[in-house]
Amino acid sequence: MSEFSIIKQYFENIGGSQPDVILGIGDDAALVKTDSVLAVSVDTFIENIHFPENTRPYDVGWKSLAVNLSDMAAMGAEPCWMTLAITMPVVDHVWLEEYCRGLSTLASQYNVALIGGDTTRGSLSITIQIFGRVPSGKALCRTAAKVGDSIYVTGHLGDGALGLRSLQDKLDLSDTEKNVVQEKLNRPHPRVSEMLALRKYVNAAIDVSDGLYADLGHVLTASNKGAIINVQNIPVSREYRWCCQGGQAYDLALTGGDDYELCMTVAQDNDVLFLKAAENNKISVTKVGEITDDKKYELLRSDGKTYRLGTQGFEHFN
Ligand code: ADP
Ligand code: MG
Repeated sequence: MSEFSIIKQYFENIGGSQPDVILGIGDDAALVKTDSVLAVSVDTFIENIHFPENTRPYDVGWKSLAVNLSDMAAMGAEPCWMTLAITMPVVDHVWLEEYCRGLSTLASQYNVALIGGDTTRGSLSITIQIFGRVPSGKALCRTAAKVGDSIYVTGHLGDGALGLRSLQDKLDLSDTEKNVVQEKLNRPHPRVSEMLALRKYVNAAIDVSDGLYADLGHVLTASNKGAIINVQNIPVSREYRWCCQGGQAYDLALTGGDDYELCMTVAQDNDVLFLKAAENNKISVTKVGEITDDKKYELLRSDGKTYRLGTQGFEHFN
């Protein structure tokens, strides 16, 4: 099967339709007309590094887009278009069909149009580049955390990491509970609509992909600030509480990665409005700490003593 038939059969009709697209798949480049500021981001997804070899292709399709949508959410941008560069060892129609079904489900849900890409042979690797609109001057940058800001996170932290461990059979969980945490790992729900509802109250934001500790650390470095995290306030699920207990109970929620929740800093003057907007839109947000002036990054236990981490979060080159 030629590259062109693959493109025609699988990729030509994925995702929503966006009025700004003048020309989509089929020419040397796509054409898009826009007057907005664009947020642009790219993520590569490699077998055995970003997902285990036996991951269902539907989930690979879903997650390869979800991680990019999460970056758009973290910038306060509304995702619009994407390109897909896919490298595969063979043309496996069952795999491709399911991959596209996962990708397409999420692309339609978030109305992102697939406007181009590249299809090549080699070890399985998927690169999606995503483009989103953001009102001029309103992007949520990592540099914008202010002293006194409250630090909020959405949802629960640590379930993605639990999901990975449950795949490795390291956890004492029932099948139902395993499904819950593996679904969190494989089919994260990027917080795009949540951020669009909350963004006007947010100073700085980042999506939690490598663990809260490391990701908030990036915000602190970029903003040249410190923070106090009240570790016992970190929101975790029932399954998490069951699996992670004792003195280091919060290690995984702080460093586990694969959460794709948002971490946001909010000026104290905006706290009430932020919480009201979250409630009105049924968004779960939890305050976990505060931005401070000194450049110390402190994790506190409920007794006021320092919480000491066993590990520090995922890094590719460590
Ligand atoms: P070129 O030779 O100009 O690089 P290609 O043969 O790679 O063009 O691709 C033909 C058309 O199909 C282009 O519009 C390209 O953007 C699109 N395309 C190729 N692969 C994909 C893919 N995986 N997903 C979406 N569009 C793709
Ligand atoms: Mg090409």
